[in-house]
Amino acid sequence: MNMREVLPEFMSEAICEGMQAFGKKMKAFAHPEAVFTGFETRSSSPVRMPRNEGYMSNIEGLYPAGEGAGYAGGITSAAVDGIEVAEAIIQNYCGIKENL
Ligand SMILES: Cc1cc2nc3c(=O)[nH]c(=O)nc-3n(C[C@H](O)[C@H](O)[C@H](O)COP(=O)(O)OP(=O)(O)OC[C@H]3O[C@@H](n4cnc5c(N)ncnc54)[C@H](O)[C@@H]3O)c2cc1C
Repeated sequence: MNMREVLPEFMSEAICEGMQAFGKKMKAFAHPEAVFTGFETRSSSPVRMPRNEGYMSNIEGLYPAGEGAGYAGGITSAAVDGIEVAEAIIQNYCGIKENL
């Protein structure tokens, strides 16, 4: 399906302009044979579940983590948050204080 049939004209025009501009910065990005297959419309969680300094929510034993909980905006930040929460859980339940 042609994306121009899906999007309003102002959007497809803006995308074309953007791709051409980006193509000047990144070689082959706007190659004539490049295929535009879709668009990413999702964004990260607009809400954040509160948690205490031990990474636990106000519900005993519930540790919100990662993107859905509002603590990450991508793969790496979600992974780092997951590690921190896992370390906090280990400290809370096993009493291990050192950095793991
Ligand atoms: C199309 C797209 C492209 C992306 N591109 C990039 C990119 O290029 N670079 C980047 O850094 N980030 C990118 N991201 C964002 C990145 O994927 C997320 O930020 C990251 O995966 C969040 O990790 P997470 O562990 O917090 O959540 P998720 O990876 O969403 O993991 C949540 C897990 O919980 C499971 N789950 C949900 N509900 C339940 C339940 N009730 N019971 C049991 N399990 C449940 C789900 O099945 C899932 O496995 C992209 C996201 C999308 C959608």
